[in-house]
Amino acid sequence: MGGTFDPIHHGHLVAASEVADAYGLSEVVFVPTGSSWQKAGQVRTDGEQRYLMAVIATANDPRFRVSRVDIDRPGDTYTVDTLEELHKQYGPDTSLIFITGADAIAGLHTWHRHDRVLELAQFVGVSRPGFSLADSGDERISVMQVPAMAISSTDIRRRVAQRRTIEYLVPAGVARFIEKQGLYLDTVDER
Ligand code: NAP
Repeated sequence: MGGTFDPIHHGHLVAASEVADAYGLSEVVFVPTGSSWQKAGQVRTDGEQRYLMAVIATANDPRFRVSRVDIDRPGDTYTVDTLEELHKQYGPDTSLIFITGADAIAGLHTWHRHDRVLELAQFVGVSRPGFSLADSGDERISVMQVPAMAISSTDIRRRVAQRRTIEYLVPAGVARFIEKQGLYLDTVDER
C-alpha cells in the first residue's frame, strides 16, 4: 500500500481492508513515500512523522504493518526500488500486489523502469466515488472503487489549517498526533 499518507486517514484503512478481503491477502504493508519526495515544489511533511502516523493508525489491526523501506532509502522514491526491496525481504516466491490511488496508477506507464515494475507486482488502483479509470487493457492492473476514499488527505490538511474538526476522518491517535506536533496549521498548498 504505497502513498504519501500526509496524513493517513480512514479512507486508506478501509481501502486496505477491502483489497485484502477481495484478494485474500495475508498482510498489507503500508509504505509511506520517502522524505525527499516533492510535488509542485512542496516538500511533504517529514517522512518520520508520516511513518509514525501510519504506525499509530494501523496498530490495532494484525493484518497491517508499516515499512520504512521508502523513508530510509535516500533520493527520490521509485516504486521499482520499493518492490525490489520488498521481494528481498519476503522472498522471491511471494506475490506482491501494489495498492495505491487510481490516479497515481493511471500514470504507471510513465514510472521509472515501468516494465520491470510490472514484472514485480500486480497493481490495484483505489478510486474515489465519482472517479473512474478507463480499463487499462493490462490484466496486471485493476481498479476498485472504495466509497470511504471520499475522505482525502488534502481535505484533512485544509480542515486543520481552517481550525475545523478532523475527528472520525482519521483514527483518534492520529488526530492527537497532528495536534501535538502542530502539523498542517499553516497549510496553504493544494497539491
Ligand atoms: P499521492 O500524491 O499521495 O496521491 C495521489 C492520489 O491517490 C490522491 O488522490 C491520494 O489520496 C490517492 N492515494 C494515494 N495513496 C493511496 C492509497 N494507498 N490508497 C488509496 N488512495 C491513495 O501519491 P503519489 O505521489 O501519487 O504516489 C502514490 C504511490 O505511487 C507512492 O507509493 C509512490 O511512490 C508511487 N509512485 C511511484 C512513481 C515512480 O515510481 N516513478 C511515480 C508516482 C507514484 P490521499 O491524498 O487522500 O492519499
